[in-house]
Amino acid sequence: MVGRLTKSARNALAHIRLTPGVTRHELAQRLGVSVTTVNPLVSRLIDERAVSEVLPTKSERSGVGRPRAGLIASGPRETIAALIWGHGVLDCSIVDFDDTILWRQRSEAAGVLTQEELLDVARATLSVAAQVDARPPAALVIGLPAPFESAVGLDDASEPRHRSAQAPWFNRDASGIFAEKLGLPVFVENDANLGALGESASGAAAGELAVIYVKLTGHGIGSGMTVNGQLFEGSHGFAGEIAHVRVDDNSQVICACGSRGCLEEKIGPNMLRQLHANYGSDITYDGLLAMVESGTPGPTRLLQDAGRVAGRALADMCTFFNPGVLVIDAGTPAASQVLLAGVREQVQQSTPPFVQRGLRMVATDLGADAPVFGSVQYARRVLLATAQGR
Ligand SMILES: [Zn+2]
Repeated sequence: MVGRLTKSARNALAHIRLTPGVTRHELAQRLGVSVTTVNPLVSRLIDERAVSEVLPTKSERSGVGRPRAGLIASGPRETIAALIWGHGVLDCSIVDFDDTILWRQRSEAAGVLTQEELLDVARATLSVAAQVDARPPAALVIGLPAPFESAVGLDDASEPRHRSAQAPWFNRDASGIFAEKLGLPVFVENDANLGALGESASGAAAGELAVIYVKLTGHGIGSGMTVNGQLFEGSHGFAGEIAHVRVDDNSQVICACGSRGCLEEKIGPNMLRQLHANYGSDITYDGLLAMVESGTPGPTRLLQDAGRVAGRALADMCTFFNPGVLVIDAGTPAASQVLLAGVREQVQQSTPPFVQRGLRMVATDLGADAPVFGSVQYARRVLLATAQGR
């Protein structure tokens, strides 16, 4: 029945499927046409029973004025599979386009996964998708904790050690191979970029024009930037690579990226080494987080110091980029607040008052969900662009 629809109606239906609850007004904006043009398309879709229009519940209404009805596509909901591969952790989920996580599994993933291992994880995730009450995933999004250039792969100029520290097969963008083997569109993106997208869409940075998102782990620091809700990746995908901003002109250590004096040298694993003498040589970042959670002074001070070091680089980024919000994620709410205190101190000391005016510095709202919801945003944008081109 839907096959008889015009190209415009099919395009409108694709938008409604991937943006549940979209209003006629928003749909017109997204399609770049007037509401007068959208109305007959929506009427046709409602006549065909492809779409229904529902009023928001009382709790969903916000603001003043008449609540606008949202459009919902008929049938099972659309989903994506998200595979966020952090250092040592693999976070797999099936999530719908309303940001509801229908299934999730977080597991330890020590060392470097081979292409076959990651393919197996993807296959297992996709097979679980058949058991949830939804359509099969429309795409698979893979988040990587490394600089990543779409269609090229990890930064080619990196030292071999750096490349092998991530996954050798990602030296070339493997999304095409994955797409072919798994039979669905596959998108690969830096995990901090996905986090930035998630926070900008429905987290602490919702509605902000310019956003910087920063994530600290025991392995390093990553950041992503959005402008008007869209990821700003730079011309080759490396915008926001804060880990490799130079913070020490006198450093003799060559960083894994091939440069020297990078922020990454100061925090991440080096930060943990400072705790070895008094807290044991086997202390992990999770151990540090637990001690910060219970208010242990030494580790808390160390994390705040890390905030000051990162904050010095972030202060310059703020002066240059003029964000409305800086979102910080250190792994737990308590740790994020401690890191944020150090960042805030430096930003206040090292930026002009006009940059600080209107700059919010906040802890993450979404935590580990940020890159998952960011994956939904990423997939929606690419899938809609593809639908539009048909
Ligand atoms: Zn570096």
